[in-house]
Amino acid sequence: MPVEEFRESGKKLIDWVADYLNEIEKYPPLSQVKPGEILKRIPENPPLKGEEIQKILNDVDKILIDGITHWNHPGFMAYFNSTSSGPGILAELLSAAINANGMLWKTSPAFTELEKAMMNWFRQMVGLPENYWGIIYDTASTSSMHAIASAREQLNLNIREKGMSGRTDLPKLRLYCSEHAHSSIEKGALTLGIGLDGVKKISVNEKYEMNSEELEEAIKSDISNNIKPFCVVATVGTTSTTSIDPVRKISEICNKYNLWLHIDAAYAGVTAMIPEMQRITDAWDEADSIVINPHKWMFTPMDLSIYFTRKPEILKRAFSLVPEYLKTQVDDEVENLMDYGIQLGRRFRSLKLWFIIRYFGVEGLATRIKHHIELAKEFANWIDEEKDFERMAPVPFSTVCFRFNPGNKSDEDLNQMNEKLLEEINSSGKIFLSHTKLNGKFVIRLTIGSIRHERRHIVEAWGLIKSLAEKIVL
Ligand code: PLP
Repeated sequence: MPVEEFRESGKKLIDWVADYLNEIEKYPPLSQVKPGEILKRIPENPPLKGEEIQKILNDVDKILIDGITHWNHPGFMAYFNSTSSGPGILAELLSAAINANGMLWKTSPAFTELEKAMMNWFRQMVGLPENYWGIIYDTASTSSMHAIASAREQLNLNIREKGMSGRTDLPKLRLYCSEHAHSSIEKGALTLGIGLDGVKKISVNEKYEMNSEELEEAIKSDISNNIKPFCVVATVGTTSTTSIDPVRKISEICNKYNLWLHIDAAYAGVTAMIPEMQRITDAWDEADSIVINPHKWMFTPMDLSIYFTRKPEILKRAFSLVPEYLKTQVDDEVENLMDYGIQLGRRFRSLKLWFIIRYFGVEGLATRIKHHIELAKEFANWIDEEKDFERMAPVPFSTVCFRFNPGNKSDEDLNQMNEKLLEEINSSGKIFLSHTKLNGKFVIRLTIGSIRHERRHIVEAWGLIKSLAEKIVL
């Protein structure tokens, strides 16, 4: 593409982005298309001759836009909000332009060193001590998989050389997490050949927090059955209700049985930036590893997950493999990021942190996140005060679990009514909420955390939910 054409097209695209974000509320947050509808609009064969960029841009509006679920829309209150801020979008553009691949220090020294600096900044922002080393992966799923791999590597079972399959000398391995842990933990175990059977789910109390006594009992029972416990995952901010596992008690158990403690704070970890929320970091310095996702609640475009560990040497031992063609003369002096995970090529994600942290400042980020927590508390109060609604879980962060409960109905009827209510809400084209099930009860979830969330959006959402609920009959 000639430079002038690029410059002109780039200006048009930036205008498109600015208008899109400015007018985003004109779209329904949840795409209303049917499966296959977008695919039908795309020619089956690729064009033989090149097309004008303007034509491609026009087709974004014509072909794609109504098949987009707008995560940036303030009516999007479904999953943990992943919203993109101006500085984050600009950094993403720059990353694509520079297109550095940070596999080695040599393949872009600024890449490796900016990532190191950003890990140091972010570590301080969430109050972790200096002995935590950090790296950026794509998602929390990947971060947790690396945590589980490190936990296994710590056992010195020579998995690296001999693998796991066909080995009669290996004990059965067991990882523990609560029944409310994210599915990525089981996926990590699947990926590493530990299997779903290698994951023991511990029950939760009435606040959906892991029962630590049951955890210890399960560990003892496994040991007496020749099963080898190796890792516990504690979640700070579970996906369904955002509950907080008792990290201190869990860390004591991990110390007693010499187990790797991984904390999944993918959603809620960013709240550690807020002075009043620092209680959530109790015993974090006991963890072997922690994951926090700026792409969930720190206005960072997909994707960016931060993995901290006190034991980077174990991660390196598990994954470093340096063929001749990747050796460099400075290998003894530098960190080559390819040594710390399965991927070789790496996107320049730290640019997004550099732009976002500098643009908003730590106070600016913390103030916005704190405001979301306050709005969620207010919404939870409205639920509590409305006799036909019922709050279904505590609200430690910015997600509220509730159901419509007009009284004198069985749980089965209430499940049907709430499922219907959620369908009505989501097809209204105004807001998008999600659901979960708690003890067999269908529960609606509303999450606040978008950079575009203002109090008026929450007020409007509540008005809509109440008016649609009034019309629900079985
Ligand atoms: N952990 C928790 C607690 C989550 O809520 C989620 C996603 O919502 C994940 C992990 C997975 O995140 P990712 O999409 O970054 O893999």
